[in-house]
Amino acid sequence: MPQHAPTARICRDCDGFATVAITTGTRHPDGTRATLRVACPTCRGTGYTTPVAVARAGR
Ligand SMILES: [Zn+2]
Repeated sequence: MPQHAPTARICRDCDGFATVAITTGTRHPDGTRATLRVACPTCRGTGYTTPVAVARAGR
């Protein structure tokens, strides 16, 4: 096992961009675009993943 254990890893699913704004194509009455903010399901919007090794390192 490598000794360097980062406390937080960048989520490899979203590459750190946990929340993505998606344009729906519609516009608000004031002219701005209506966007949906979708959080990454893997890291749940945090952008980081919890290393599994930490959870079971208590030996
Ligand atoms: Zn993610």
